[in-house]
Amino acid sequence: MALKSEVILLTHRLKKSENLTKSEQFQTYQLYIKISHDLFLTIGQLGQFCFPAGLYIYTGSAKRSMDKRLTRHLAPNKKLRWHIDYLLNNPCAKIIDIKKYKATECQVNAGTNGRIIVPGFGASDCRAGCGSHLKYCSLQQEC
Ligand SMILES: [Zn+2]
Repeated sequence: MALKSEVILLTHRLKKSENLTKSEQFQTYQLYIKISHDLFLTIGQLGQFCFPAGLYIYTGSAKRSMDKRLTRHLAPNKKLRWHIDYLLNNPCAKIIDIKKYKATECQVNAGTNGRIIVPGFGASDCRAGCGSHLKYCSLQQEC
């Protein structure tokens, strides 16, 4: 009897951990980007913008291809595909930190402080009204 209940308990625990693994999958990442000098850059179809020196937080999503995507962001001289490529291809822009989240891209972005420099940046398929998936924090202020 004791054995049977132990098996049931174990099965229950396994099921619980399976569910946990599923719900714990990362789907969102943030790139912390430091820009060392004021930059004047063209961001694809969005146009030309002045990026003041400071810290930028870019929120993106990638489910199964998370590591591949992050490796791409870190690689120099990429073919310009996403808005973020236009920024990261500049030698004055450097990724200083990467964070991963289980929440959705827009939830994480909404919870991130900062100012919008480029309306619509990385938000072409955003349906949550974020305005931009890139936020700016001056070096002085805490984000
Ligand atoms: Zn959004």
